[in-house]
Amino acid sequence: MSANAEIARLLDETAAMMEVLGENRFRVAALQRASRVISGLGVDLAQIAQDREALLAIDGVGDKIADKIQEYVRTGRIAEHDEYAQRIPSGVLDLLGVPGLGPKTVGLLWREKNITTLAGLKRALEDGSILDLPRMGKRSAERIARALAFTESSGSRTPIGVAMPIAESIVVRLEASARGATAVYAGSLRRGRDTVGDVDILACATDADAVSRAFREAPEVAEVLAAGATKSSVRLRAGDTGRLIQADLRVVERRALGAAMLYFTGSKDHNVALRERARARGLTLNEYGLFPDDGGPTPPQVRGVTPVAAKTEAAIYSKLGLAHIPPELREDRGEIAAAEAGALPDLIEPDHISAELHAHTTASDGSLSIEALAREAQRRGFHTVAVTDHSKSQTVANGLDEARLREHIASIRAVNERMRGVTVLAGAEVDIHADGSLDYDDDTLALLDIVVASPHWALTQKPADATRRLLRAIEHPLVDIVGHPTGRLIGKREGLSPDIAELCAAAAEHGTALEINAHWMRLDLRDTHVRAAVEAGAPIAINCDVHSERDFDNLRYGVMTARRGWLPADRCVNAWSARRLRAWLGRRR
Ligand SMILES: [Zn+2]
Ligand SMILES: [Zn+2]
Repeated sequence: MSANAEIARLLDETAAMMEVLGENRFRVAALQRASRVISGLGVDLAQIAQDREALLAIDGVGDKIADKIQEYVRTGRIAEHDEYAQRIPSGVLDLLGVPGLGPKTVGLLWREKNITTLAGLKRALEDGSILDLPRMGKRSAERIARALAFTESSGSRTPIGVAMPIAESIVVRLEASARGATAVYAGSLRRGRDTVGDVDILACATDADAVSRAFREAPEVAEVLAAGATKSSVRLRAGDTGRLIQADLRVVERRALGAAMLYFTGSKDHNVALRERARARGLTLNEYGLFPDDGGPTPPQVRGVTPVAAKTEAAIYSKLGLAHIPPELREDRGEIAAAEAGALPDLIEPDHISAELHAHTTASDGSLSIEALAREAQRRGFHTVAVTDHSKSQTVANGLDEARLREHIASIRAVNERMRGVTVLAGAEVDIHADGSLDYDDDTLALLDIVVASPHWALTQKPADATRRLLRAIEHPLVDIVGHPTGRLIGKREGLSPDIAELCAAAAEHGTALEINAHWMRLDLRDTHVRAAVEAGAPIAINCDVHSERDFDNLRYGVMTARRGWLPADRCVNAWSARRLRAWLGRRR
């Protein structure tokens, strides 16, 4: 995060905490104003912090704020912020994150009702005791309940693409912190969910202290919540989102690492089903291992009972009569029965992907030339890349009209002639209009090697209209792939809610692929939709919707989503050989 964004956030948070504590409202207002000014500032404060005159010349920055800016640039902290944070239970700051719940109300909830967590707030809303507060009426309580529901559904969760790089960098740091240390992440992150509530990390090391210290002192740590011998909790700064995410480290014994990984990877429902299965076999399963169930009064690991299995997940599954179940499937959605029957799907892996079929160039809103895109695809080991720039309605994205498209096709074909070892397809990402018609006429579409049709606007249509719209695109004889079918943006936009079963049946019938857009803000189709598509027999595409080189890196999130939807490699068009892909595209042209 830039220094400006971080300073603005700290000032704003300080103001909120002061307000919770009922402090001087003029100072609160001054901090809020400074925060607003700094977040919109064109210059980098880290560059000019030495020049006090320059700081004071900024509107809204007086001596006190200038001190804080200099302090932050020097030390990476603002002491006053930390002091206030210590006076307030950390859960109270979570309450401030509920939209519409102001610091005054949060202060009242804390002082009058001792409510310091989201769970406590929820209880007070449910049992009506919140209405005891001064000036709290039914309508305000309802408003807060709605805001809380939104926070719980999306606002409090972090997108996987933000959480994953942080978790991976911490794992690397922990493994380097002590000789022979092992670290892994678990939880919903390991299961590949599109958003995560917190980050669970497990480590084994002879020097547990060194590992715990490295965890608490990682550069991403904003706050240490707990520091014990085997368990530490911190809040991490989540990239440049301004959001904090909780991370928990547990140091476990190496001989029980598999049991701990199983337990902390979850899901809860999967683990409940495994424990029942263990019990039916005269065994007991917990985070320390799979033990014989001898009915003893205390947990078996406390009594020194030798486990039947503990070191690896595979050993535990095996003793339960199951094949190893990949983390993405552990949702209690039929995976245990499949593992018992030896019928787990042969899941797709990132290495299976050998084509990118949705990529933009400088012709519309991408940053790569056709040739640079082709070289990058080749460098990543792909046999095919499709250039699919935007169609004419996407004026903000510099979409191509028919004349520009014809020239573009000629340029793409010229690059394809020059390139060796990678095929460059001439395509387009064509807008699907609200009524399901397409942004180019059929004669124009027929010039292309591949057509991705996507909805970009009118994304608040009624479900029945959305279904009709997308069905028309799926059934169109020249459409190969429907891109990001619902148009959702995680935590920001709900997108369309079509009848997925109907779309999947049509896609299977017409051989049209439905896309999993791999960008972590989209992951659209989502996991449950993919499962429906797999069951209906529809082909699936996993595309990075490339706008720059880095976008290829999102492939892993698309593949994880695909795996959560039980997708086998042979059902994914991007995993097909060049010959099979050509045959599929050629069948309509
Ligand atoms: Zn698009
Ligand atoms: Zn696109």
